[in-house]
Amino acid sequence: MNIHEYQAKEILRAFGVPVPRGIAAFSVEDAVRAADKLGGVAWVVKAQIHAGGRGKGGGVKVVKSIENVGTEAERMLGMTLVTHQTGPHGRLVRRLYIEEGSAIERELYLSALVDRSSSRVAFIASTEGGMDIETVAKETPDKIQTFSVDPAAGYSRYLGHEIAAALDLRGDQAAQCGALIAALYEAFMAKDMSLLEINPLVVTKDGRVVCLDAKINFDDNALFRHKDVQELRDPDEEDPMEREAGKYDLSYVKLDGSIGCMVNGAGLAMATMDIIKLYGEEPANFLDVGGGASREKVTAAFKIILSDPNVKGILVNIFGGIMRCDIIADGIIAAAHEVSLSVPLVVRLEGTNVEKGKEILASSGLPIVSASDLADAAQKIVAAVRSGP
Ligand code: ADP
Ligand code: MG
Repeated sequence: MNIHEYQAKEILRAFGVPVPRGIAAFSVEDAVRAADKLGGVAWVVKAQIHAGGRGKGGGVKVVKSIENVGTEAERMLGMTLVTHQTGPHGRLVRRLYIEEGSAIERELYLSALVDRSSSRVAFIASTEGGMDIETVAKETPDKIQTFSVDPAAGYSRYLGHEIAAALDLRGDQAAQCGALIAALYEAFMAKDMSLLEINPLVVTKDGRVVCLDAKINFDDNALFRHKDVQELRDPDEEDPMEREAGKYDLSYVKLDGSIGCMVNGAGLAMATMDIIKLYGEEPANFLDVGGGASREKVTAAFKIILSDPNVKGILVNIFGGIMRCDIIADGIIAAAHEVSLSVPLVVRLEGTNVEKGKEILASSGLPIVSASDLADAAQKIVAAVRSGP
């Protein structure tokens, strides 16, 4: 799960991480009032969307008067912000963050993540802050250094010194950096984060080390023990189809291809996607209806697949173990009646109650193509999609 920058900074602040003062705003009046309350001589108006690269897209503006806070807030609220992370359709800006302006001396990069190769939390540090880290990794990989944390020892001052050195920080700033890393690590562990990215971490002209941006991803599997984090969810930022799937406890990931897949079991779903590719087409989604899917769940899955305009055909591939084939057949028919089935549908059923399932489909009067095995199913759906509607 992702949250907004202002929410991430609030969490970090509570752990003693230095972040600039700021106030979230939902309207132009809110924004002006926030700037007035913060005081000072420079403010930053920041669009709050779940994507980075806002600065380049016009979603981060430093202004020198409260009047201009209003002008920028007016411009940003309701705009569709396109960045390299949003995709071409961009994201609608509904929230802003008004922050005190910092006088920046240097911009650095610091992040923490769960590093699967070492099975540890790792810090990634680079002197090239404020830039896309993927670009840095590609063009100047030697400027990125990784430090993994020993889970038994936790944070140590030695780690803080090493990271500070990698960031070219010395003396008092190295000490500030060490304390900052200790606090970040504490927050990361306490809140079960999977990613914590500070880009940029800055050194201000008056010598302070401060987090100017903050991005946090939480481990969904641990969300149940963080009610406070769950409350930060912003449904406006989530893919509507993935959100709908979440309601029915379906594992759904939208992809770019043309063949919608409904499969039970993640392994079979992967195999189905592979075989579609083998026969020359691309899957429109990954969808695992799970082991104990009800008719209601299957109907929901079917509707989610059909709501994707890229879907030109559907392949249902079910192995009836715990799941009974007749239930799947019922679900398919119920869904097909509710949503007008406008694309070819190939169904491959195998396992428990397969005969009953096939019978239900055959007697439904719906134009369903039955397949005998995985290769047959993939070939049939690819052929159907290619021959057009
Ligand atoms: P994004 O990563 O989405 O582009 P950032 O929060 O990193 O958004 O902001 C982009 C740039 O704007 C930063 O690299 C920094 O140069 C500048 N910036 C952001 N916040 C402030 C601030 N509080 N004071 C001064 N400059 C800022
Ligand atoms: Mg940033």
